Amino acid sequence: MQLSLVIPLLNEAESLNELHGWIAEVMQSNRFSYEIIFVDDGSTDASWDIIQSLSKTDTNVKGIRFLKNFGKSQALNAGFHAAQGDVIITMDADLQDNPEEIPELYQLVTKEGFDIISGWKKKRYDSVLAKNLPSKLFNWAARRTSGLKLHDFNCGLKAYRNDVVKAIDVSGDMHRYIPVLAKNAGYDKIGEKVVKHQARKYGKTKFGMSRFIVGFLDLATIWFISKFGKAPMHLFGALGVVMFFIGFAFALYLGVDKLFINKTGRLITSRPQFYISLTAMIIGTQLFLAGFLGEILIRNRKNDARYTIIDQI
Ligand code: UDP
Ligand code: MG
Repeated sequence: MQLSLVIPLLNEAESLNELHGWIAEVMQSNRFSYEIIFVDDGSTDASWDIIQSLSKTDTNVKGIRFLKNFGKSQALNAGFHAAQGDVIITMDADLQDNPEEIPELYQLVTKEGFDIISGWKKKRYDSVLAKNLPSKLFNWAARRTSGLKLHDFNCGLKAYRNDVVKAIDVSGDMHRYIPVLAKNAGYDKIGEKVVKHQARKYGKTKFGMSRFIVGFLDLATIWFISKFGKAPMHLFGALGVVMFFIGFAFALYLGVDKLFINKTGRLITSRPQFYISLTAMIIGTQLFLAGFLGEILIRNRKNDARYTIIDQI
């Protein structure tokens, strides 16, 4: 099978038939062998009924239904597990992503050898204040921390080679950073394609302004994990040692001063250096301990793949 389309959705009943028709049209005129995997992320409207009836008339349609709303990342993860095509394409269900981009995305992955092609909604049809501006800032921060030169990390329309989606684990709210996850897993031929974008036709967005707060926190996490996730001691140990020695230097100074220079001067405990020394040494020790705890945690995570093998003889 050439293509798997993975489509996460939450309460998108109005869009599904139209989306399916549009995809089927593009697929047939390009003669693709394909599957459409609708992942119903706990919809409370008629979405699942529609997916069921679509699957009765079209054998390319498959469905996965979640017990409750677990989030877009989880939905993508489930779709990635099930996908059998050589190329996996993800898209939103709300008709904002254009299925006509699919053939070119497919070519870029199969012919040009990209691991991932990420869509870039160069001209966006979302509200300027609520989305376009914060998203510029957000993408800038993501570029800075990840080193990936993408304009639109969170675009729902992306294409992957099959082995890429099998190697990455999208959890929490990390769907915003799939290219970064892929890069950290060793897939770094990541390209970008300008894609057409439409205004939402039915329903409304499922992510409020909180996406930006959560998004930035996740960015900090992912940056940290990719840099120090395999060796937390390298960060915490270094910081801890520095802090501790700053504290120790102040203590030494106070001691020498009291014993040999200013014997009748102020009490050590009434001097500001005393408090600096005390806090710095305590923080230093804490940081060092955090490093040790991190290392212990890593060593206890036994069955968690931390590398991907591509060949074995
Ligand atoms: N979605 C989902 N689970 C959620 C939230 C959203 O599967 O918890 C789906 C949603 O139905 C849509 C896609 O993710 O197909 C993108 O969501 P939305 O269009 O609301 O995001 P926006 O375009 O506003 O960024
Ligand atoms: Mg949308």
